[in-house]
Amino acid sequence: MKIKTIEECFPKLKKPIIIAGPCSAETEDQVMQTAREIKEIPNVQIFRAGIWKPRTRPNSFEGVGEKGLPWLQRVKEETGLQTAIEIANAKHVELALKYGIDILWIGARTTVSPFAVQEIADALKGTDIRVMIKNPLNADLSLWLGAIERIHQAGIDRIIAIHRGFSIEGTHKYRNAPVWKIPIELKQRVPNLPMICDPSHIAGKRALIANITQKALDIDMDGAIIETHITPETAWSDAAQQVTPTELKKILGNLSYRSQSCHDKEFENELEVLRDQIDRADQELIELLAQRQNIVADIARAKLKNNVTALQVTRVNEMMKKRFEKGESVGLSREYIKEIYDTIHTKSVKTQINIMEEKKDEENK
Ligand code: PEP
Ligand code: MN
Repeated sequence: MKIKTIEECFPKLKKPIIIAGPCSAETEDQVMQTAREIKEIPNVQIFRAGIWKPRTRPNSFEGVGEKGLPWLQRVKEETGLQTAIEIANAKHVELALKYGIDILWIGARTTVSPFAVQEIADALKGTDIRVMIKNPLNADLSLWLGAIERIHQAGIDRIIAIHRGFSIEGTHKYRNAPVWKIPIELKQRVPNLPMICDPSHIAGKRALIANITQKALDIDMDGAIIETHITPETAWSDAAQQVTPTELKKILGNLSYRSQSCHDKEFENELEVLRDQIDRADQELIELLAQRQNIVADIARAKLKNNVTALQVTRVNEMMKKRFEKGESVGLSREYIKEIYDTIHTKSVKTQINIMEEKKDEENK
């Protein structure tokens, strides 16, 4: 996939790209007042507002619809902010284009549906509008990637992924669990792909937004989309997670902006020394893993001779107890040791089974 870089998507804007505005456009006054206040925050360059709202249950506020589009035109004319809205079908695309919306986004409930995404892709053919694609509700990287591919195949090459967290079972600190490894893997699979974090929908409550935004910047995401409302408590949707423009300004002001590299000589030297150390540690780690595999093979042959199974649960439990203790004594958490040993031990069992099977094949020859 040939996807444009963040700089090509937003040539006049500075990183991090900050998109702000209400969850929903409610009234012309609410939209205009929010936009005017947002305009005063130096880092914000794009105004968001939901015109059609995908609500989980019927009979809740489903957005003002087409009548809100001229309000966004007014935002653009009066403040110079670019505008972004959510679209979920071909008709929405047509209307967004008609009213000169700058950027479209596909919501999490739409990304899960290949039919809906394809309908949008078909409606986008022949345009060169920027499209932001939120991750699907469920933690499925392929579905996210599939939506990106469908939009790309329609000839759109300015695509921005939005990480808005995933709906997972149970009660959690966040409204939508971030599962950071998924956006990170997406970035590895499509290296150029611009990625923006949506801390508002991850958090579900205002108090958590600053931390999530910082984390996103720390892993080199390109920006954030933050729901902002002049009176969040009375918002018609997502009241608990919206912040006022003043709060937004404070959040942005307190963030640490890091860059991917720095040309300070002393820092470069320090980094080189540390990287050298980590390279050596990894070499040793790999050699130790190879040694471990050789021991595993010896164990398999010994078990074979004595007709013993490859896996003995009591031994595994005992072994893990010792590994956790050792881990703890050197400051490695139980979870970390467990994760690593799940991989190492699964490989050991497989190796032993393979050796036993080979032996059986030989005997049967
Ligand atoms: C939104 O941005 O207001 C929205 C509905 O988001 P999501 O699709 O991430 O739930
Ligand atoms: Mn919302």
